Amino acid sequence: MSMSFAPTRAERAEHLDVPAYTSALDTWLSARPDGLVGATSPLANTDSYMAATRSLMHDLYSSGWSRYGWPEEVGGFGGSILHRAAMWELLARHGVRGMAAFEHLEVLGPTLLALGPSEFVSEVFPRFLDGTQTWAQGFSEPDSGSDLGGLRTRAVPSAGGYTLTGRKIWTSWARFARWCLVLARTGPTESRHRGITALMVDMTAPGVDVRSISQSNGHDELAEVTFDAVEVPGGRILGDADGGWKVAMHVLGHERGTFAWFRQCFLQQTLLDSLPWSEPAADGLLSEAILDLASVRAMSLAALRAEHHGALLGPRAAFTKLLLCDAEKSLYDWVLGTDPDLAVDPFDGAALERRAGYLFSRIVTVYGGSQQMQLDTIAKQVLKLPT
Ligand SMILES: Cc1cc2nc3c(=O)[nH]c(=O)nc-3n(C[C@H](O)[C@H](O)[C@H](O)COP(=O)(O)OP(=O)(O)OC[C@H]3O[C@@H](n4cnc5c(N)ncnc54)[C@H](O)[C@@H]3O)c2cc1C
Repeated sequence: MSMSFAPTRAERAEHLDVPAYTSALDTWLSARPDGLVGATSPLANTDSYMAATRSLMHDLYSSGWSRYGWPEEVGGFGGSILHRAAMWELLARHGVRGMAAFEHLEVLGPTLLALGPSEFVSEVFPRFLDGTQTWAQGFSEPDSGSDLGGLRTRAVPSAGGYTLTGRKIWTSWARFARWCLVLARTGPTESRHRGITALMVDMTAPGVDVRSISQSNGHDELAEVTFDAVEVPGGRILGDADGGWKVAMHVLGHERGTFAWFRQCFLQQTLLDSLPWSEPAADGLLSEAILDLASVRAMSLAALRAEHHGALLGPRAAFTKLLLCDAEKSLYDWVLGTDPDLAVDPFDGAALERRAGYLFSRIVTVYGGSQQMQLDTIAKQVLKLPT
């Protein structure tokens, strides 16, 4: 059933109230619109997961639901991050498995809006919201993951802007992305974090090459991206020239803080969905998973509220990220505890998905900055311990 309709002015005003929005969206989803049916059907691989999520986002945009929580200048209807938090929680409850590339709406979106050139962001952001043009995050390099200040991808001034040359790795969803937020060196190598600029790069430009990376869990959303003398127009700088570190910290504050809310929505649902397989022998693991999930839920809710009130989480987001890592790991320790054969012999599509989730949960301590780097951030920047 196709159910795309634009809300009336009165409905838009009413839905600025988060509980009213949540209840109306719940009713809409309960009628199982086409996009929801696709996104909750068995997903054979990364491509079908991405295609189904794209079409869900298209439905949510044309019906208006995904436009709440974003300002009108970028295609939104107003409201706050609490609308987005409610939307993804409901989607998880209605059976959607994850956000696919749209996780970058929450990782990159707030920074694009806060620091981006407003004309360009107003032009491209609605296409992100409606599912047609997604974004990727090009920070990590083969020799610069934890040590982001040492990155070597270089942007040199050219007639029209910059010429970009270098290599990024572990770039999530790059294969599907129309745009990539690339951190590039614009100062001398020894300038470290002071000589970095954040560029918004068109992934269809000549010289961009994306090679996907096969993961042990059967998915391939990660990629290695090469930029070979790619021309980037001068207006495509996010923040200031040589001000890329501030952009990176803004992004990481969201990736490690508010994003935990969006991720935990799906983890909570996995817990509920997996309960039928629970064995008494795994009750200890279950209680640990419940406690860890409750902790990350509480901390990420605090992050959402801080964002709602215009406060930046900054380095304190590292606490939330650590709790998210613990919760995801202990949830899947329990999932495996309920069915030890899962790791070696998954028996159907649902078991395969649980196994993929288990394997992914082993690497959550790495993305967005490794667990050791989060502890380092807390020690130095929050507790100000002597180094
Ligand atoms: C699923 C997934 C998705 C990702 N998506 C993206 C993405 O979209 N965009 C992007 O840019 N990157 C992405 N990454 C990359 C991720 O940010 C990096 O893998 C991470 O920052 C670690 O960098 P590295 O892999 O180079 O490891 P390294 O930096 O080489 O670290 C290796 C090990 O050494 C430890 N270590 C390093 N330095 C120190 C130190 N000073 N003190 C103590 N311990 C240290 C680390 O904790 C780690 O255990 C993703 C990674 C994963 C796993």
